[in-house]
Amino acid sequence: MTTTVKAYGATSATAPLEPLTIERRDVGPHDVRIDIDYAGICHSDIHTIRGDWGPIQYPQVVGHEIVGRVAEVGSAVTRHRVGDLVGVGCQSNSCRTCAQCEQGNDQYCLNGNTQTYASVDPADGTITQGGYSQAVVTDENYVVAIPEGLDPERTAPLLCAGITLYSPLQHWKAGPGTRVAVVGMGGLGHMGVKIAVALGAEVTVLSRGTKKRDDALGFGAARYVDTTDAAAMRELRDSFDLILNTVSAELDIAAYLRLLDVDGTLVNVGAPTEPFRVPAFSLIPRRRSLAGSTTGSISEIEEMLAFCAEHGIMPETETVAAEGINEAWERVLSADVRYRFVIDTHTL
Ligand code: NAP
Ligand code: ZN
Ligand code: ZN
Repeated sequence: MTTTVKAYGATSATAPLEPLTIERRDVGPHDVRIDIDYAGICHSDIHTIRGDWGPIQYPQVVGHEIVGRVAEVGSAVTRHRVGDLVGVGCQSNSCRTCAQCEQGNDQYCLNGNTQTYASVDPADGTITQGGYSQAVVTDENYVVAIPEGLDPERTAPLLCAGITLYSPLQHWKAGPGTRVAVVGMGGLGHMGVKIAVALGAEVTVLSRGTKKRDDALGFGAARYVDTTDAAAMRELRDSFDLILNTVSAELDIAAYLRLLDVDGTLVNVGAPTEPFRVPAFSLIPRRRSLAGSTTGSISEIEEMLAFCAEHGIMPETETVAAEGINEAWERVLSADVRYRFVIDTHTL
């Protein structure tokens, strides 16, 4: 037995998203059913549906920045109660037995974790369907409690954009005295700026043109540099300890590696289709590192939510109804989002 819920999704890589109905499994002993209130729009949703990362099965519903209320709990559930405000991010399950899961790094599960959408669900073998929908059924261990006082709508983007920047900023120890640059100021980038500022780092935003300058400084960045200004970019050479690249499109990564000081690290979180070209001498002469990072573990998400609540860090959001999703996607693709769209899923 399953439950049918309304959703908004894609029937092919090229068609606009449209209203669909999808099935949610019955609540098992360790599951919770969440009535979804809000779902953020991440650029990864678009990459996935458009096949940028490889072919997928359709119909497919995306969305991995989910906030809602617990509507039903399974008989063995201990972590959540009916009525609780909760969230689901990018991963909805993992093997729990590999070396990474045992250390709490479920996002790096060596057997491949279960993504909230477009993954095979170990519970029933179906393809997971995401948060652009009325309800979702998720194992309680992959559902996080939302701290008191956080606005549910603006909390949604923390579940992917927030954690994807919080995790590397913590791992590479950004803090007072660290010179951090954030490349690309969209959904992820603007959260990176706010979190790095709250950690006490000296933050520079690298973005195309000057449209986002005032916003960047308003988020607490010490400096804003237009990446199309060659002279200004030259002046930044050898000047950062940590660079976080959030750009969703093809990028001349070597131009950014040269901005790292000795022993600096460029952490790439952007996921474009095209590979980077990394000349040997963009790394060798300064002992620079090029790294990657994916989202964060469930316990890190809980830590990040508490951090954002304590420091009053929230994303800038624009709420859209279901019929506005396709237009919102177009605006994400043209970098015309300030800075994250959130779907009011009651409009489905
Ligand atoms: P977004 O809101 O669209 O932001 C991407 C930013 O990239 C834009 O605001 C723009 O910044 C810059 N950009 C876009 N096209 C560009 C181009 N042609 N050349 C140079 N810069 C360009 O996207 P998002 O949701 O933040 O996601 C960003 C990327 O991270 C996506 O590829 C997404 O799939 C990936 N992602 C990765 C993870 C992970 O775990 N690693 C998690 C979530 C998302 P400016 O206008 O400031 O230049
Ligand atoms: Zn995402
Ligand atoms: Zn595992």
